[in-house]
Amino acid sequence: ADQHGDQRVAVIGLGRFGSSLANELMRRGWDVLGVDTNVQIVQRLSDDLTHTAVADCTDPEALRQLGVHEFTSAVVGIGTDIEASILIASNLLEAEVPNIWAKAISRQHGQILERLGVHHVVLPEHEMGERVAHLVTGRMLDFIEFDDDYALVKTVAPEVATGVALGESGVRSKYGVTVVGIKRPGEGFTYATAETVIAKGDVIIVTGKTQAVESFAELS
Ligand code: ADP
Repeated sequence: ADQHGDQRVAVIGLGRFGSSLANELMRRGWDVLGVDTNVQIVQRLSDDLTHTAVADCTDPEALRQLGVHEFTSAVVGIGTDIEASILIASNLLEAEVPNIWAKAISRQHGQILERLGVHHVVLPEHEMGERVAHLVTGRMLDFIEFDDDYALVKTVAPEVATGVALGESGVRSKYGVTVVGIKRPGEGFTYATAETVIAKGDVIIVTGKTQAVESFAELS
């Protein structure tokens, strides 16, 4: 939803994933309707979310009574019960909710949700596992991969990038990466320019093709 649009979201399934998501949305100032079949879970979150309800959302009538068809965004946070996840996703599609997000616990589960027409499918465990692999094997401090094989990485500057102004270092032409931010020890991040000279021990933010960014971060 855009800044001026509807900032309401229905979160169905308030397990570890759904409850973290719902709480973060509240922190961002959104109105959150949280729904779960489990009374204890709903009670625990009832003070934290805008609205909560105990309901089995595999029943389209239950969803309708909650007014979910009037929401522009809904998230299905159910993984363990794949059947419930699929039924609820199809109920939301039937109700023509324009932005449906769903979590999947396996690639197959994710494929089914995508084929149903769910707009955004996330695989939290797979995605986090891949991300942590990049951190474990390398010197990277943080790693985000976007679609199309493009990544943004936080890393300690390799020596090849230090001592010369970025504009003259040839980092972009030689390694195919762009340094966008720099943080000197004890300071905050600032953006990098062609005049920026990176020193040993500086932490930098680098973007580029995943492969290029990874190779660059492995240089010493
Ligand atoms: P997590 O791994 O994030 O904890 P789970 O899949 O284990 O996710 O939890 C899903 C949550 O969804 C549970 O709290 C469960 O009670 C709830 N849930 C399961 N089926 C339904 C349903 N049909 N309608 C609403 N909530 C449901």
